[in-house]
Amino acid sequence: MSDKIALATWPTPMEPMPRLAAALGLRQDDLWIKRDDLTGLGGGGNKTRKLEWTVGAALATGADTLVTTGATQSNHARLTAAAGARLGLDVVLVFPGTPDSVANGSGNLVLDSLLGARVFWAGDSDPGSMADVAADVCRQLSRDGARPYLIPFGGSSPLGAQGYVEGGEELRAQLPDVEHVVVAVGSGGTMAGLIGALGEERILGIHCGAVADPAVTVADLANALTHRSINPDSLRIRMDQVGGGYGALNEPVLEAMKTAAATEGIVLDPIYSGRAMAGLIAAIQDGDIRRGRRTVFLHTGGLPGLFGHTETVHRSVTTLQSYKPV
Ligand SMILES: *Cc1c(COP(=O)(O)O)cnc(C)c1O
Repeated sequence: MSDKIALATWPTPMEPMPRLAAALGLRQDDLWIKRDDLTGLGGGGNKTRKLEWTVGAALATGADTLVTTGATQSNHARLTAAAGARLGLDVVLVFPGTPDSVANGSGNLVLDSLLGARVFWAGDSDPGSMADVAADVCRQLSRDGARPYLIPFGGSSPLGAQGYVEGGEELRAQLPDVEHVVVAVGSGGTMAGLIGALGEERILGIHCGAVADPAVTVADLANALTHRSINPDSLRIRMDQVGGGYGALNEPVLEAMKTAAATEGIVLDPIYSGRAMAGLIAAIQDGDIRRGRRTVFLHTGGLPGLFGHTETVHRSVTTLQSYKPV
């Protein structure tokens, strides 16, 4: 029996992208977008499906405080804050650095504070030890009489990934003959869940630089979900879109974001969904995805993260030089 709770209205829309398809050399009805950016609560995004399971489990244990961790621009942290607000739970977000060390005190951080979450700044503890810091924070909260529940980085436990088994089934019901699903890979739970629903052959993951070895991370989660032993080497994961690193905005990603925005009015973020679009374009260029193959791009949200990178995007604005006001 699951303790899953509802945090959004499902299904999310499935929309055609004929103008983008044509721009990329595909047939007009080859390319579709599943709008998991439109999950509502707290600005929306893929983490909502996982939180329905993990926060449900937290409530079942009698927790009164949700604790989680991630980068300061974590969409998962923001959506955990929103879920806590919706359910009347306290939320503590464990971030690396100090308030002063955060150059981008904008985007998701603004929303975290609006949503009433408290932040524990972990100082210069290395990113690999953030889970330990979060466990310490939980012990401290317990000593103070709270009942904390720790949700892992990105919400990517086998329990959280269950949300994307459902997401994949929802997708298949909307477009039964789908041949490729393209998705950004961060902590891996989204791709793992999709594999659970649709099998590893159909899922193309684009590594965004959030974990050291995405194939092993995704395979471990998918195996826990499916009770199979999928070989990490059999997964389709592109490693070529990380560029300057997780937090950097790379030129091909900016180009992909501009193409999606200019052809379909779809806004992507520079860390995840923009990289996934750049990976889709690269996969068409090298023949992995071909004309006539029904392809779904999973929009995972992340728009607030764009506002940590406004300067780079702004510099690429096209000015209408010849226009003279009368
Ligand atoms: C977290 C995130 C992803 C990646 O999902 P994982 O399940 O962590 O791999 C993709 N896109 C956005 C916008 C995200 O916030």
